[in-house]
Amino acid sequence: MRYVSTRGQAPEMDFVGVLLAGLAADGGLYMPAGWPRFSASELKSLRGLPYPELAARIIAPFTAGSIEYSDLLSMCRRAYVGFAHKAIVPLAQVDTNLYALELFHGPTLAFKDMALQLVGHLFEHVLAQRGEKVCIVGATSGDTGSAAIEAVANRKNIDITILHPEGKTSEVQRRQMTTVQADNVLNIAVAGNFDDCQDLVKAMFADEPFRAEMNLSAVNSINFARVAAQIPYYVYAALNLGAPEREVAVAVPTGNFGNILAAWAAKQMGLPIAKFIVASNRNDILTRFLGANDMSVRTVEPSLSPSMDIGVSSNFERLLFDFLGRDAALTAKTMMDFRATGKMVVEATVWYSIRQQFEGYRLDDEATLKEIGRFYAESEYLADPHSVIGLAAGRDCGPIGLPVICAATAHPAKFPDAIQKAVGLRPPLPPHLSDLYDRKETFTRAPADLAEIETMVRNFTNRNRNA
Ligand SMILES: *Cc1c(COP(=O)(O)O)cnc(C)c1O
Repeated sequence: MRYVSTRGQAPEMDFVGVLLAGLAADGGLYMPAGWPRFSASELKSLRGLPYPELAARIIAPFTAGSIEYSDLLSMCRRAYVGFAHKAIVPLAQVDTNLYALELFHGPTLAFKDMALQLVGHLFEHVLAQRGEKVCIVGATSGDTGSAAIEAVANRKNIDITILHPEGKTSEVQRRQMTTVQADNVLNIAVAGNFDDCQDLVKAMFADEPFRAEMNLSAVNSINFARVAAQIPYYVYAALNLGAPEREVAVAVPTGNFGNILAAWAAKQMGLPIAKFIVASNRNDILTRFLGANDMSVRTVEPSLSPSMDIGVSSNFERLLFDFLGRDAALTAKTMMDFRATGKMVVEATVWYSIRQQFEGYRLDDEATLKEIGRFYAESEYLADPHSVIGLAAGRDCGPIGLPVICAATAHPAKFPDAIQKAVGLRPPLPPHLSDLYDRKETFTRAPADLAEIETMVRNFTNRNRNA
């Protein structure tokens, strides 16, 4: 498979190139040159397969020519062994035609594990083959940092540094990062907010000599490998609900648009998804876009669902590219103008065609708590503040008579304070994390200062590489 940039000015790459590069050199995002297609009978033949095998079959066209199928299958099997549920991605029925696709049974209790666990194996495999080492740096406001750390802890060819804003992540989220005791993991608590952390990471990537010396790499959600690893669970769920003979809808609690983009990819590959419901919290740029073609940036407000607190959804560029007929010049112009003005201009005809398949939905914090209580009372289903927005969206916007697959993206125990407020109980952590509050934390504090942080990363990485 070849990959092209949505902005058309970066070289085409194969899967390995895209995996290691993340962002394209022209500022665009890599997309497969064409979506692979599965016929209805090919899809049907995947029904009943164990999840890791189904995942390998769906991902194989994306890695074709770069990774042997037998290696891919073995990595898929290893990626999901640590999951706490035998089905890996169980589907829970919440109401007539309403299903929660539980994507949170991985090590860090959020759906990011679905992709990052596999991406960790892919990195290690590729780096070992090439005899290279990379230094991953990232910033996190919550879930991504811990999922990335869990995915690469103790891997020989990878060092990872994660910056988090000191005192501004939840205790569970912080402890999930800082209690991983591995020589290749460096946690830095930055005196600042999440934007400071993200700016520091961007500045490290922009510092060419530093970037080359460290062989910096990223595992953020714009990496296409992550999107690819999120496609199989939609296929798995839809097959279980009667696809390809029966259409389904999906409802996805959305931040950076990576998860729902994977559902879009599944449809391009042949899965009959009749409707995409994009669920947001008070940070509702996507709801405003889908409701009234208003994609204008506003200040990010903190909410009970912090992993959806975004000002701009970076993966939306990939959907736009498809809806603009893969016109890279037009995509590039639209994105540059958006960056310059803070408002995206999308032609009415294009907006209308997106609107025919995508619908927006929004819940503020107060409604989120109410819905947690309601689903718990009416279906005995305890959903976290992210997942519940998807469930409510699926209930209120699902097409009549079609099963709606709602992505349940985090375990309720990850957000005990919100659950306590909503239903008056504190959900216990699952057994593998039950001693999280007693584990030893390791992290270093630093000011939001580029030179100081680069020195820390350099010393840490050099010590490991010379060890
Ligand atoms: C990251 C995350 C999301 C948002 O997913 P996107 O792919 O960024 O849209 C939703 N819920 C949880 C719990 C997450 O960790």
